[in-house]
Amino acid sequence: MSIAENIKEIKSTVPAHVELVAVSKTKPNSDILEAYNCGQRIFGENKVQELQLKQPALPDDIQWHFIGHLQSNKIKYIASFISLIHGVDKIKLLQSINKEAKKNNRIIDCLLQFHIASEDTKFGLNIDEAKAMLQSDVFKEMHHIKIRGVMGMATYTDDKDQIHREFRQLKETFDYLKQNHFESDNQFNIISMGMSGDYPLAIDEGSTMIRVGSRIFGSRNYQK
Ligand SMILES: *Cc1c(COP(=O)(O)O)cnc(C)c1O
Repeated sequence: MSIAENIKEIKSTVPAHVELVAVSKTKPNSDILEAYNCGQRIFGENKVQELQLKQPALPDDIQWHFIGHLQSNKIKYIASFISLIHGVDKIKLLQSINKEAKKNNRIIDCLLQFHIASEDTKFGLNIDEAKAMLQSDVFKEMHHIKIRGVMGMATYTDDKDQIHREFRQLKETFDYLKQNHFESDNQFNIISMGMSGDYPLAIDEGSTMIRVGSRIFGSRNYQK
């Protein structure tokens, strides 16, 4: 199936309140344009260098999301245009984003990444670390970042019950933070969970944003 057909099929099965991030990492601009030409506007990348090459070469109204592990010293290369950073798991990183956003006279949207998988290779906060971060004076003084919600990755497994459990945990984390730290903030409204292999389960558990790569663009030659 073509990229356009894949997108159409995914969109036809995903509820309207769930946003689709087309994960275009490793894929050429021609693939991105094919998706763009059937209406897709949100694309996800996980390498700063790749994003630096793609962004100026592609239409201006694309919303670029950074979905990988971001290094503080590279934020400056994407700060002028990045629309959402999914993987924030350290206050230091948030401070660096804040600093670069300020230089660009912007407020950059961010998601807090939580560790929900059983694999310990995956990045992310736990709830206590998040609470400490959100209560800190350093956090309260940052005016150029906006926490929009949470992000997480489930374990890579065939065990659907486990995947359901992990996504449910992320939804509970979101609900907790919403009640205790963002109660009157209606912009705290994003739960980024679900990839090609597990997005229907994530939607069942309350995902509002799915990050889908290989189901749209085909398998990648190298994997993150
Ligand atoms: C690569 C990647 C995806 C997309 O993975 P697919 O399985 O190809 O859909 C989603 N989220 C993150 C964080 C990724 O690195």
